Amino acid sequence: MEEYACKLCRRIIKSKVCPVCKTTEVSKSWKGIIVIFDENSEIAKAAGITAPGKYAIRVK
Ligand SMILES: [Zn+2]
Repeated sequence: MEEYACKLCRRIIKSKVCPVCKTTEVSKSWKGIIVIFDENSEIAKAAGITAPGKYAIRVK
């Protein structure tokens, strides 16, 4: 299955519309996955992530 990454929040999604940003600015050119379980963790803060989920490390 193809997965996309939102260019705005970097969330990994399975559709061409980000459910959070409501944007179609998504990309198939992304690399690396970080999984955030706790948005208050140091990793989430360092990555600027504010909600749990799967995120791409880099989105082109
Ligand atoms: Zn988004």
